[in-house]
Amino acid sequence: MARNYEITRIPTIPEGPDGSECLEDTQPPSELFRSIASPPIDASLLKATIDGHECRLPFEVLQRTPTYATIPHLDETSISRQPFQCPAGHCQQLCCLFMFATHVTFDHKDVLVEMLWPDETNTVLVDPHAPDGEDPRCHKLYLVSGKIRGLGDGKHRDKLPFALMSSKFTLNGTRCLLLWITGPDAGGSLRQRYTMEAGRNDPSRLLPYAVAFSGEIVPLHDSQDADVIHRAGAGLVIPEQQLHFLTHNRTKLLEVCVHFYR
Ligand SMILES: [Zn+2]
Repeated sequence: MARNYEITRIPTIPEGPDGSECLEDTQPPSELFRSIASPPIDASLLKATIDGHECRLPFEVLQRTPTYATIPHLDETSISRQPFQCPAGHCQQLCCLFMFATHVTFDHKDVLVEMLWPDETNTVLVDPHAPDGEDPRCHKLYLVSGKIRGLGDGKHRDKLPFALMSSKFTLNGTRCLLLWITGPDAGGSLRQRYTMEAGRNDPSRLLPYAVAFSGEIVPLHDSQDADVIHRAGAGLVIPEQQLHFLTHNRTKLLEVCVHFYR
């Protein structure tokens, strides 16, 4: 079926009374009449100096980090350099502070290795269920910068190694998981302190973490036995029933967040 179409021209330029296009009636924006350019913005307003760092707008707020000169050399610290046994499983390899990170990197390839600064938080997913006989398990090695100079080389240079460990043990007839951090010991009040939190790996959770621990690391030279560590109050204890809840009846991994203090 044939249809008739009528095409109407939409005027883009105003037309005069007689239908002629009248360009002279079009008024350009008044700003274009100004021939004087805007005054230049003072360049100093776009810059600022924060803690000696020159920043430009938008301001980048830099964290106050210690300068290299204020980080003590290993020789100036009380950090123990006595040999110790590798804490992972039943490895028992005799290690020293200088080669521990290298040993874990090459001989425990299932262990995650990550660089970290004090005051930085780090989250890791941990499988808390291991066959009997594998305890204690090493889940992650944190190489913490900004604590010392004069240790290691390459990408391990000037970083203190701290290992995230876990083990099952029985407390008052209930099976529990113990999580702790072991690392080099500076002794006394200089022993490294940290916070560890654990919770459901669930983005919709309302509370960030279910359980938390704040305290000192377990020295690499000390026992890595869960009974000994929990009696010393040096780790995070999670009863098995709560662990089931946090891991959605063992269908998800446990989320662990670690934060080393300065
Ligand atoms: Zn080992």
